[in-house]
Amino acid sequence: MHAIRMGIVGVGKIARDQHVPCISANPAFALEAAASRNAQLPGIANFRTLEQMLDGVAGLDAIAICTPPQLHYEAARLALERGKHVLMEKPPCASLTQLGHLRQLASVARRSLYQTWHSQHALGVAPAARLLETRRLRGVRVTWKEDVLRWHPGQKWIWQAGGFGVLDPGINALSILTRLIAEPIFPRSALLLVPSNLEAPIAAELELVTAGGVGIGVVLDFRHTGPQTWDIDFETDRGPFKLSAGGGTLTVGGRPVPAEADELHGEYSSIYRTFAELIAAGRSEVDARPLELVADIFLTARQVAVAPFEEPRA
Ligand code: NAP
Repeated sequence: MHAIRMGIVGVGKIARDQHVPCISANPAFALEAAASRNAQLPGIANFRTLEQMLDGVAGLDAIAICTPPQLHYEAARLALERGKHVLMEKPPCASLTQLGHLRQLASVARRSLYQTWHSQHALGVAPAARLLETRRLRGVRVTWKEDVLRWHPGQKWIWQAGGFGVLDPGINALSILTRLIAEPIFPRSALLLVPSNLEAPIAAELELVTAGGVGIGVVLDFRHTGPQTWDIDFETDRGPFKLSAGGGTLTVGGRPVPAEADELHGEYSSIYRTFAELIAAGRSEVDARPLELVADIFLTARQVAVAPFEEPRA
């Protein structure tokens, strides 16, 4: 089979940090084109819009969508309607209905739609899932605290409606929870702190609960300048364990638990391996649960205005 001819939409941080290197390193793919209003990638065809890219490069097989989430639906829809396979960055779309529609379009077009959740591919997550097969969960605590100025500089979209604010990184933690916990999870209470000059939360305090009654406390904070923390602590009937570094490290009793040899891939290499498998099998993978949980949080939350937040001028 020939390499899957890829185009990327939205050449920003994640496209440069992860998608371009992982596509280039995987012989199942060939990166042929990019569509971005301002940025360009060397050595391939560059266009300002997805439409121009689809018109300009005959025979592209698949599109990776790396724009802000408010724009994912339109791009994915156009790509599917033009007969391309689609890989979408998280968070999927600005609404659940949009995600459902994309799923239908992929099915009608007989193309693979892969809604990615990169944190589900973090190295500690599969071993944690195995651990939970033999334990009963008693409680969970998520602490996701980072400095937005360090990780999202200049990203105005994250503060706009549909940009998710602190729930943009927070949905990564929720995607790990939904991967590990099969039963429904919903909010018992949610407090979102929204800067008075912005449209999306800068911090959140959430009390979630599983249908079976297991409590999950979640603290998300974009204002954190100390050690950057992406931890999930699990209490079980056979003692605690911890996922740290965004799911990258699992420790039980203070000792790291290694992943199995066939799981030792970086998050995005694993994502592109999965995408190639889905295309070969003629399947899609769309997991809506993390977005459903965020939608439920926004539906039920008490929103409180807090001090304005301004990014310092460079
Ligand atoms: P980013 O650095 O802002 O890049 C997105 C790019 O999309 C921009 O550089 C911009 O390039 C293009 N774009 C097109 N229309 C735009 C618009 N109206 N407003 C802003 N940009 C527009 O964002 P990112 O961090 O790469 O994130 C993109 C997606 O990946 C998001 O869904 C995010 O949640 C996800 N993600 C990010 C990370 C991360 O570490 N940053 C990690 C995992 C997932 P042009 O100006 O050239 O059009």
